Amino acid sequence: MDQTKEQDEDYGYNLFPERKKSKYKKGSIGESLFTFNHKCHIMLQFAIQTSPYAKLLLGAMRNSGCTVYEGRHFSCEDCDGTVSGGFDATTSQIVLCQNNIRQQAHMNRVVTHELIHAFDHCRAHVNWFNNLKHLACSEIRAANLSGDCSFINELSRLNFGLNQHHQECVRSRALRSILAVRNISREKAEKVVDEVFDSCFHDHAPFGRIPHSKKDAKFAYREFESRDRYYGNL
Ligand SMILES: [Zn+2]
Repeated sequence: MDQTKEQDEDYGYNLFPERKKSKYKKGSIGESLFTFNHKCHIMLQFAIQTSPYAKLLLGAMRNSGCTVYEGRHFSCEDCDGTVSGGFDATTSQIVLCQNNIRQQAHMNRVVTHELIHAFDHCRAHVNWFNNLKHLACSEIRAANLSGDCSFINELSRLNFGLNQHHQECVRSRALRSILAVRNISREKAEKVVDEVFDSCFHDHAPFGRIPHSKKDAKFAYREFESRDRYYGNL
């Protein structure tokens, strides 16, 4: 619609300075065993192998023909500001901000959040760059299903009605994510989020329901596994 605006968009790449480098010195001598990069890869592996959220998303993507390979689809990099991760649709790569992710629980949430974008990218033809509604929808789903908001809920359970707070949290996190990567006004972002909120908030694929806790995610994963086995035997 607003074509002139699209021209000076930077699509958030300024937040990921290493994305622009032509060469990434992987395994260079300077990259010692105890760098953030090394720690990031260890935490990533742990997340992939143990987080029921991540395992379900990876399994669902594999079933849809979008197998995720650790070496090919994840990249640990230094990022600017306070961003924790991002999904680079041009390369189908998930960026993990090694300088901002210090704890395993945080890594698990970031991996899950970005895998939801990757899942959306895999299952639907998402027009990340030209359709704000698509971006907004995926951000709503990622905030809703990744545990981003359940984590905050844990801390403020006493202060708010649980459901109301969860929706409010999802909405504000989606807004924040959009504003971080698109140079648009808050009003415009709010309008887009509101337009798609209901349908995207209620789209729980591939979890079946909102996993409010690790226990919920485990249950959803077990359900997925047995469904998978059932279809595998047909
Ligand atoms: Zn996101």
